[in-house]
Amino acid sequence: MLGRGERVRPGLWRLRLPLPWPGVPHGNAWAIAADGGIVMVDTGTYGPGSMAELGRSLDQVGLELDQVTLLACTHAHSDHWGQAAPIRERADCELWMHPNHAHATKSASDPEAALARRLEVGRQSGIPEDALRRYAERFRNLPSGVADVIEPDRDLVPGMEIDTDLGTWTVHETPGHAPSHVCLFQREHRLLISGDHLLGRISLYFDYGWTPDPVGEFLDSLDRVERLDARLCLAGHGRPFVDVRGHIAGNRQLVRTRLESVLAAAGRGPRTVVEIVPDVYEEALSTSNASWLLSQTMCYLRHLELMGRVASESDGEAERWRVMTASATCARRSRICGRSILTSYRSRMAPVARPEIRRSS
Ligand SMILES: [Zn+2]
Ligand SMILES: [Zn+2]
Repeated sequence: MLGRGERVRPGLWRLRLPLPWPGVPHGNAWAIAADGGIVMVDTGTYGPGSMAELGRSLDQVGLELDQVTLLACTHAHSDHWGQAAPIRERADCELWMHPNHAHATKSASDPEAALARRLEVGRQSGIPEDALRRYAERFRNLPSGVADVIEPDRDLVPGMEIDTDLGTWTVHETPGHAPSHVCLFQREHRLLISGDHLLGRISLYFDYGWTPDPVGEFLDSLDRVERLDARLCLAGHGRPFVDVRGHIAGNRQLVRTRLESVLAAAGRGPRTVVEIVPDVYEEALSTSNASWLLSQTMCYLRHLELMGRVASESDGEAERWRVMTASATCARRSRICGRSILTSYRSRMAPVARPEIRRSS
């Protein structure tokens, strides 16, 4: 697939950039007219020819990289931040991004430590050592998608504003998918640049191991974005879409479905994460999906653990999960999380219509 540019409305363009990932053929960057130049939001992933694809997509809508006066990233995953270094250098502009970017900057600058973290998740989940060794070989050969590790020139946090010809964009923290995630909102046109927080095809991904409760953070972020009342969502992958509320409801529903499946699977425990995964996802574990499925399931288990619904025990290697009994749950609820998490969990978990569910990134 080639890079492609298209106008969404006067002064706003979608730059559709190819991705080397199976099942996720492209990601979006956005160009917004700003006082004779352009603000670029997100970058596409870095690899052989990727800067040429970005140049081609800009050229198709009559823009050039030199016109970029500011680069802002919705979050520090490689498909949204990977080309930040060469863009900043070519355009001589600033990079703005949320300061909680260690999940990416630490991993990208020390890939062996990042691999060690993944192997530890695999070990705790109950993956045998020889399978971990095969995974490690595969991981070492994967391209990082990051041209060079650079940190933001300014922190993209609430209170910061981005001025464009379409008006001012405000910054809204939306952790969950990644600790560094923000959405940008243009109030007069009710436009939301949602990164990977909301996607047209509902799919869930949480960075595991950087914050205590990515799933809980994601649910809070959905509440925050719902209050913005956006009319058009410009997502990090796929076409812009209008039914923003429906997509938020669909995300809540999918989280609820996953939590219920994980809870039911732990109810047949004590079980390792490897034993729980097949009850939650309709696919068998393989070297290509294991890291994804194990870390997602761990995120759900941590969320349920904080709510006092499950607990784990370790034999020194693998953790085994089981459902808490009613009396243990009661004691744990009041000790660890009080009433607020449970109350908000129940209020969020009201049934809603089931959306189309497809994998994306
Ligand atoms: Zn992402
Ligand atoms: Zn993405």
